[in-house]
Amino acid sequence: MVVNTCAFIRPAVEEAENAIREALAWKAAGRVRRVIVAGCLPQRFPDSLPGQFPDVDVFLGLNSFSRIAEIVRGKETGLVDLGSPTWLPDHRLPRVISTPPFRAYLKLAEGCSNHCRYCLIPKIRGELRSRPPDSIIREARRLARQGVKELTLIAQDTTAYGNDLKDGTSLSRLLKNLDRVRGVEWIRVLYAHPRGLTEELIETLAKAEKVVSYLDVPVQHASDRILKAMGRGANGKEIRRRLLKLRRRIPAIALRTTFMVGFPGETGKDFRELLDFVREVEFDHLGAFGYFPEAGTEAVRLPGQVPEKLKEERKAELLSLQAQISRARNKSRIGREYEVLIEVFDPDQKVTVARTPGQAPEIDGITKIYRGDLVPGSFHRVKILDALVYDLVGEIIEEK
Ligand code: SF4
Repeated sequence: MVVNTCAFIRPAVEEAENAIREALAWKAAGRVRRVIVAGCLPQRFPDSLPGQFPDVDVFLGLNSFSRIAEIVRGKETGLVDLGSPTWLPDHRLPRVISTPPFRAYLKLAEGCSNHCRYCLIPKIRGELRSRPPDSIIREARRLARQGVKELTLIAQDTTAYGNDLKDGTSLSRLLKNLDRVRGVEWIRVLYAHPRGLTEELIETLAKAEKVVSYLDVPVQHASDRILKAMGRGANGKEIRRRLLKLRRRIPAIALRTTFMVGFPGETGKDFRELLDFVREVEFDHLGAFGYFPEAGTEAVRLPGQVPEKLKEERKAELLSLQAQISRARNKSRIGREYEVLIEVFDPDQKVTVARTPGQAPEIDGITKIYRGDLVPGSFHRVKILDALVYDLVGEIIEEK
């Protein structure tokens, strides 16, 4: 049994530890022969894990990804490949798609060189390493041949893609090439750091035919003081200017973001600045998190740690403001027409789950269609009939 782990904050570590305990119970009961723990947890705690879990057979670092089958079949024990991460996905590696067959995630790069002061990811996963564009295009073509119609591009920071290659490779150039991959109909970009939202990228997002009118831009905060303390490398005014430019250039764009409240030193004034920013930009989708003081980051040593209760209150206030904005934006869509991708039929609710270009899989709302005869992975035109806080209700107006 392979337990693949996440370890960037304490709650993720605890979840991973519980999964390991569960796996070891299976081993003790004779239901599995070996337990292998892979991913970020062994990469972060190579010294303490063997003592904490002596019955685990192998702890695999991030570099052993392509050797996993060989390690599962072999007799190796202990710590394996725990040096600093150099591994990158490659189009030649066989891939099992765990999402529905008509959509897939496509990884552009590994690691991150931004070093935000609250984040351990650069320490765990290493500095930015971009895949060669050719490898990504080949993987996209292979996925398209397998029936994938929607590609969701991911990396720790997608806008930094190519910076380390120093040969002119960029997200913008990659999008222009992916736009030509036959069979792919929707391309979506997640995790676009606001600092990397250049004029060139905005132009490409506007012009590329298959890139949907959607962007996930994790803003994290709007107060200059806090953005600076976080080490985000862009101030509030600049972020606002870029997002409003994006809205002007692509009026139909749906914007998703993430905010972190309660970062050390955040005052009531900083938080109100954040609320004003949210009122002004009117994001379509918004995730909010309370700052988590993670051991090993610079931010844990900063003065002015915010009490947990206050973080929770601020998070609740932000989410309640977003619920109003989201409802109003969804209401303004009633009567409009959109292309949707059919996901699945839910027989209990007797409803088909679909998504417009403005709804990313797994993280955003959905479009409900009260019909049971639509094929998953097919595209249709719908008219929006009703709006809920996060979801839409539509009817098919044209079969595609
Ligand atoms: S850009 Fe994201 S992954 Fe990179 S250091 Fe900042 S928060 Fe962490």
